Amino acid sequence: MMAQYLALKAEAGDCLLFYRMGDFFELFFEDAKIASATLDIALTARGEHDGERIPMCGVPAHSAEGYLARLIKAGHRVAIADQIETPEEAKKRGGSKALVARAIIRVVTAGTLTEEALLDSRSANWCAAVGEAGGQVAIACADISTGRFELIETSPERLAAELARLNPAEVIASEASAFAEAATVTRSRADFDSTAGEARLKRLYGVATLDGFGSFGRAGLAAAGGLVAYLEHTARGSLPFLRPPRISRTEAAMAIDAATRESLELTVSSAGTRRGSLLDAVDRTVTGAGARMLAGDIAAPLMDRRAIETRLDLVQHFHDDPGLRDMLRSNLRALPDIGRALGRLAAGRGSPRDLGQLRDGLDGAWRLGERLRGIPDKPALLAELAPLLQGHGALIDLLQRALVPEPPVDAGKGGYIAEGYDAALDDLRDTGAGGRRMIAALEADYRGRTGIQALKIRHNGVLGYHIEVPARSADPLMAPDSGFTHRQTLAGVVRFNAPDLHEAALKVTQAGAHALAAEAAHLEDLTAAALDRRESIAVTADALARIDVAAGLAERAAEGGWARPGLADHACFEIEGGRHPVVEAAVAASGGRFVANDCTLDEGNRLWLVTGPNMGGKSTFLRQNALIAVLAQAGSFVPATAARLGLVDRLFSRVGASDNLARGRSTFMVEMVETAAILAQATPRSFVILDEVGRGTSTYDGLAIAWAVVEAIHEDNRCRCLFATHYHELTRLAERCEALTLHHVRAREWKGDLVLLHELAGGPADRSYGIAVARLAGLPPVTIKRAQAVLDRLEQGRARTGGLAAGLDDLPLFAAAAEAEAVDALREELGRIDVDSLSPREALDALYRLKALA
Ligand code: ADP
Repeated sequence: MMAQYLALKAEAGDCLLFYRMGDFFELFFEDAKIASATLDIALTARGEHDGERIPMCGVPAHSAEGYLARLIKAGHRVAIADQIETPEEAKKRGGSKALVARAIIRVVTAGTLTEEALLDSRSANWCAAVGEAGGQVAIACADISTGRFELIETSPERLAAELARLNPAEVIASEASAFAEAATVTRSRADFDSTAGEARLKRLYGVATLDGFGSFGRAGLAAAGGLVAYLEHTARGSLPFLRPPRISRTEAAMAIDAATRESLELTVSSAGTRRGSLLDAVDRTVTGAGARMLAGDIAAPLMDRRAIETRLDLVQHFHDDPGLRDMLRSNLRALPDIGRALGRLAAGRGSPRDLGQLRDGLDGAWRLGERLRGIPDKPALLAELAPLLQGHGALIDLLQRALVPEPPVDAGKGGYIAEGYDAALDDLRDTGAGGRRMIAALEADYRGRTGIQALKIRHNGVLGYHIEVPARSADPLMAPDSGFTHRQTLAGVVRFNAPDLHEAALKVTQAGAHALAAEAAHLEDLTAAALDRRESIAVTADALARIDVAAGLAERAAEGGWARPGLADHACFEIEGGRHPVVEAAVAASGGRFVANDCTLDEGNRLWLVTGPNMGGKSTFLRQNALIAVLAQAGSFVPATAARLGLVDRLFSRVGASDNLARGRSTFMVEMVETAAILAQATPRSFVILDEVGRGTSTYDGLAIAWAVVEAIHEDNRCRCLFATHYHELTRLAERCEALTLHHVRAREWKGDLVLLHELAGGPADRSYGIAVARLAGLPPVTIKRAQAVLDRLEQGRARTGGLAAGLDDLPLFAAAAEAEAVDALREELGRIDVDSLSPREALDALYRLKALA
């Protein structure tokens, strides 16, 4: 057995090996130590290997799923080695001592789950592979719980941002790849060969050419090939169910890097939960599929104006018709998750209940389709979606005839095929029922014959049907001519068999076994019939999800008084009465009222510098505007009374270091790296919010950096930008940057107390209120008094010397400084050239270099 185990373990590689022994999955050696620690189960030992006791632990096979879930969650992968023959078969094959043959039947990994219990119904479970070829990079990702398959062609620079958007459960890359480090699993280079990938895709879809799917780049083929190879590996050779890939290029979506996603808490809050995220504040979907689609929409706001308007039209339609919206939502709520049921069936792990879910889900979809058909003046998207809900009539009909109303998850006990579907099956069931009636009649008969009223006919797994009498009345039945055969004596009872009972029991068990086999055959046929239509079922599931998303967004908009955003051609950003949906909910929950604020940016006034006291609402204002851009381009109404914006190509959000201290990184470094990324990437169509950038270092450094960053954004990037700062000195920038205006969050001191109004107003803040905030926070009065004295002293000093910003006024303009820099670089390069030693070719090169510097 050890030899068999070790061979399987070698095959499992770095996965934990679940080794089936009877009713248990056992783990040995290191695996046992890891699993017992993770699962908190007893570590025992068994036998010896190389003179040492072998550590071992095990989990019951029938409840293995829960243990698997915990191991996967802890970051492990598990190979399942099951028995692939019965002990009887093994004996027949190799004699009484033969070992039952075992094989790895599946590798369970975070990215390849289909089990309902192991998945969150409201989020997609992506398994992503990164492929590269000729300087191009692509991500292939699949959610095999629903068969969704996406291929994203991107660039090395945008790879990390794309992965952050998808947030995959598992990332696979070639071991030879430059991205191997970003991967959770590396696989052989051969799996990521683009030619092999093409062949693999053709095999998967059974096609001679991939042209019908759109155009694949070589990197895309490499990624898709690597992914399919991995999925085949985990499913042990059986092909995964993947719908034809949706090919996209990253330019189709607003670019949002990982740091921005984190800081804006788009789909996950800073606490790592869905609660507290934008997604959670917006989500009013009523189906798991709808919630998954909405999460995808918010993670990837669109860049195509027509596509956004199409989505908005549908939201508007549902918004304006509350009756229709309610009808749709209550119908959708009752529908099972057909996408995931289909995924389980396709993965070969489906149950009768999954078929029942398909039946009910498709039937519900069909009914919805009927109701939508009758609606006049449908928006384009609805007219497109409605027909997709129908077209499964024959399958629905088949499943309705074949299945009982509530089919069980466990097929093992049968009972899921409806009466009247198969006459032969009905016969077998009648025979079985007849046998059971006979057995019931025998009980009365035996009681009469023996006079023992306590006599019972019972059934268990060992003896089957048998007669049980109390020990004290058993004697007459023990007589050789009693007609009863003794089977077992226990404390208190004695058990017997009898020929007529035996006969009736045989009838019951035989009929039962045949009936089970007949049901299993039907299950297989019905599953095949459903899988034949899997592509169009998946399309229906998507259509339902899209309707749910739109109806949910309409519901949210109606609930919160949100407005439909208008889209403009130029880079404007005009928000009236904007609000932050998450903060607003928190403020309302504590009995407060959220103060709405306007924001107006355009080409001539594209940078707002926001000052004001701490806790005054600066960050909230910055973020709410970034969130409004995300929502608008995701096709949602926005929390404002009116909104109009030009499409945002890239969104950036950076928060000054000290807010992130809890995360314990070298935060100032991180802050600067992230700021550098913005300066390198923001375009005139981008939207940037910078919150207290520069704060993570000393005052002089911080002010200097903040100053330079604002100038660079104003002069070079020329994007729309909101910049919050407590460096009052920065307000002088308004004099030299023509597209920059000053704003502040209002505050007032009233009877010695600070009142934060959370209201934006034009111009700089008149003072910083730092000490008032400190008092608000409960700093002891003596400390406050002392701080006031220090401040007075500092302010006197500032009046005399001009303070922190003294001398800034004669600083040359940013453009002039940049020009001077270029001239210096030219000079330096010129100085380096030794004219006499140059060949004509080198002289030409030198000229090109100089030209590039100019
Ligand atoms: P700052 O960035 O200026 O330090 P924040 O934006 O973090 O301030 O806001 C601090 C708190 O003030 C928030 O947690 C919220 O409770 C409240 N707040 C912010 N903006 C508003 C608003 N517009 N209306 C009502 N309360 C607000």
